[in-house]
Amino acid sequence: MRRWSEVAERVSATTRASVKTHLLAAYLGTLDAAQLPIAAVFFAGRPFPEVDGRTTGLGWATISGAVAGLAEMPPGALGDAYDRSSDLGVAVADVLEQAAQVRRTQGLSEPTVQPPSLAEVAAAYAEIEAAGGPQAKAERFARLLARSDPLTARYVVKILTGELRIGLGEGLLEAALAEAFERPIGAVKRAGMLTGDVGRTAVLAREDRLESAVIALFHPLKFMLASPAEDATEIIARLGPTAWVEDKYDGIRAQLHRAGREVRLYSRDLHDITSQFPEVVASARDLAWTGILDGEVLAYREGTVMPFVALQKRLGRKAPSAAIRAEVPVVYVAFDLLALADPGSAAAEPLAEALLNRPLSERRQRLEALALPLADAGGSFALSHLVSVDSPAALERAFDEARLRRNEGLMVKDPASAYSPGRRGLGWLKMKKALATLDCVVVGVELGHGKRHGVLSDYTFAVRDEPTDRLVTIGKAYTGLTDAEIADMTAWFEAHTLARYGRYRTVEPTVVVEVAFDVIVRSNRHNSGFSLRFPRIARLRPDKDPAEIDTTATVEAVWSGLQHGAEQLVTAGHTRASREGPAH
Ligand code: AMP
Repeated sequence: MRRWSEVAERVSATTRASVKTHLLAAYLGTLDAAQLPIAAVFFAGRPFPEVDGRTTGLGWATISGAVAGLAEMPPGALGDAYDRSSDLGVAVADVLEQAAQVRRTQGLSEPTVQPPSLAEVAAAYAEIEAAGGPQAKAERFARLLARSDPLTARYVVKILTGELRIGLGEGLLEAALAEAFERPIGAVKRAGMLTGDVGRTAVLAREDRLESAVIALFHPLKFMLASPAEDATEIIARLGPTAWVEDKYDGIRAQLHRAGREVRLYSRDLHDITSQFPEVVASARDLAWTGILDGEVLAYREGTVMPFVALQKRLGRKAPSAAIRAEVPVVYVAFDLLALADPGSAAAEPLAEALLNRPLSERRQRLEALALPLADAGGSFALSHLVSVDSPAALERAFDEARLRRNEGLMVKDPASAYSPGRRGLGWLKMKKALATLDCVVVGVELGHGKRHGVLSDYTFAVRDEPTDRLVTIGKAYTGLTDAEIADMTAWFEAHTLARYGRYRTVEPTVVVEVAFDVIVRSNRHNSGFSLRFPRIARLRPDKDPAEIDTTATVEAVWSGLQHGAEQLVTAGHTRASREGPAH
């Protein structure tokens, strides 16, 4: 693990992508079949492979408690170190280094430790995950930390918290695997997309078996994501001449797998959420095909989509009661078909991936041919509402209509595009305008006032700076969440407080919130260099990872888009005034 950490350190020290790739490739090429998958998954910034669904469940409090015990430093030391770096791994390494210095000045010898190997760190993560309760988790973590020198500890913690931050994206990691084992990059990417596990992909690359990766039922594929876009002319230029426009539904993204009478639903973060939506499962059970759908679960009653807050009541309930199901019924709005078995094939056979590479127009046609049991006819399915546009003006019209339906925006898709799992490609664009939202991470919380006294209701949130990868604050919001949500979050923030400063406290930066606002302005009030007017929490985004929050580049783009929008408003005002003639 020490060697892995040194490589990570060198990768982090350069901004040049080609140098990062060479460094990684040179290291990965030396590993054996047991070390390689572990090293690769760790370089993806995860303790476990993405498809695996496990999390260590180790919170800030446990980590800081273990560090304080180990380094014999006051509990506040870690909070102070964290304030200097905004990075828990760096902070832990700093504290351990300080402790070592203290020992040196006291003339005490360094404890002789056998640093953990990659396999031992992986085994420790698995044991932390499996341990019941914070106490047992803390003990296991402390044992791991006790064997780690400061540099190793820095990366052990960074991986544990999912905040590797060494400027290494999935693309570079795949390029390094291709280089290390002299395989075509396309073959590595294809396997990566199908396995959803960079460790497994690495092994296939090493053994020259990349072609053997297949789509498997009941193993979720990563979801295709959309890139943000605002300008209708640009969108048509990019996707046109004809673009498909669908409503951007405000629900929960879900992948539906079915074979025989088995039906499973997976969330955007690849967790199995089947038990939360029994009506969708029941409605899909008696169908005759074997395959995988992509879509969105929405709260839907009597022909109308209910707002997201209604659906929120259903989220996280493993077995929703009949009462809650009657109060908030759900529907699965399908918008894509990712795989479909040939009618005669056995259920256990791997699915052909060919459909992913076929144009969306063909996938949609085959989706419609499945004749899903629609909600209007007693089933629990719907198809996404789809219109075709071939000019910026028509797209603008569709956007205005969507807004009239109180929809936050549109998804614009190229009918010729393939489905690229896990990619934020340019085949799908999400069109949002003014009143856009930003995905931010909460970095600080404060006790509220009035009826919110005694609860942590005021959130300070941050976006990610590019290219430094640091979290930079952009605003503070007091409103938007329900009392119940605030109560839940208060308990969570209590357990994940980093440091207290009177009423304010810094917290572990893992809670992602979607923030709505009216205007973005340049300002020195927050260290992002921007601030938001009338920010409010649109919702909590437990499905989003802090790695996915918006960046300063997006903020800049939204800011300049809003400037542009404001100009247009002014221009429209002038036009109207001149048409009406001078006022006098
Ligand atoms: P965001 O969550 O803001 O990154 O927006 C992208 C999300 O919009 C996707 O992950 C989907 O959950 C959601 N979405 C809503 N409607 C659609 C649609 N018609 N097609 C694809 N994704 C959609």
